[in-house]
Amino acid sequence: MIKRSARWPGQTAVIQGVSWGFFIVLFLGLCFPVRLDALAEPFALIDLHVDLPYRSLYKQRPFAEGSGQYTAARLYRAGVRGVVLPLYLPEDASPLGRTRAELERSYAHVFRSIVATPPYALLGCQTSGVARPVETWLAFEDAGAVGADLAEVRKWMLRGVRSFGLVHNEPNVLATSSAQTGQLSVGLSLDGKAFVEQVFSVGGLVDVSHASDRATDDALDLAEKLGKPLIATHSNARALAPHPRNLTDQQIRRIARSGGVIGVNFHQRFLAPDGGANATLDDLVRQVKYLLTLAGPGAVAIGSDFEGGIRPVPELKDVSQVQKLAQALLAAGLSPEQVRAVFGGNARRVLCGPQASNVPAP
Ligand SMILES: [Zn+2]
Repeated sequence: MIKRSARWPGQTAVIQGVSWGFFIVLFLGLCFPVRLDALAEPFALIDLHVDLPYRSLYKQRPFAEGSGQYTAARLYRAGVRGVVLPLYLPEDASPLGRTRAELERSYAHVFRSIVATPPYALLGCQTSGVARPVETWLAFEDAGAVGADLAEVRKWMLRGVRSFGLVHNEPNVLATSSAQTGQLSVGLSLDGKAFVEQVFSVGGLVDVSHASDRATDDALDLAEKLGKPLIATHSNARALAPHPRNLTDQQIRRIARSGGVIGVNFHQRFLAPDGGANATLDDLVRQVKYLLTLAGPGAVAIGSDFEGGIRPVPELKDVSQVQKLAQALLAAGLSPEQVRAVFGGNARRVLCGPQASNVPAP
């Protein structure tokens, strides 16, 4: 015979409390399910093109906030761990246009802004001792102000410029622009070819986003001849979105073969046919998958173009949403390793390649 133990005072109330607690937790769990993927580490993003310098210097928006698309306080939670910041000069940057002095002003502004704005850290590719979590690299988005003065290339490399965009929407002394694709038989000028060779010789990256087809093909010829990687920091596939800012299939394959990368642009116009007015996250995923098919897993990256006057797909209206792209890529069949490569691994490889730390002394 088992003797029933006597209940201690308050035992019934405790049992009832625990039971109610269990049901309340169950109820809340059913109403507000906690998504496991929301608890996971975000995919580390290195963005190859964010126009924050332009937005802050020429549109008078605070560097820490931009227009709202790229707010410093949101970067870490969004998974951003690195960003390339172009020293873009608008055509009317000064009464004399894009000048060397204006380039210096832009550089000083960006340098000061990075130092003054956590979580940005100066100079990417540092492997230790970085107290701030978002690495930065500088870039040109129009090298016309430097032009034929080849000694400038090494100087800017030593100042943190990693990627040299040849031209913007207007032609310059180096190259014709995408706006002229099909209109001219000239791509790179003689100065342009010498400039590209100089960038390659000091271990820099040549960026052909905004270049005309002829100029892109000329730069590809030089990259192949010299065995250097060529990049397109913020361009998509023209086969899916027929815009001259986007790349042909052959250019995509050649960039991949050179060891370079293509940064996928979030601008609706560059994502889908018919001007992409209603382009969505699905179109962005389609672009990534198409590029992966043509270029392979090591040649696709992200170049959002945030703060560059873009109209992003509605699901990615600002940087805080970028992990939605990672989740959409996983849902579309990419492996976590592939998403990691697209989000940051491939960009890091070209930005921090062996050539990056080896700028030859003057
Ligand atoms: Zn651009």
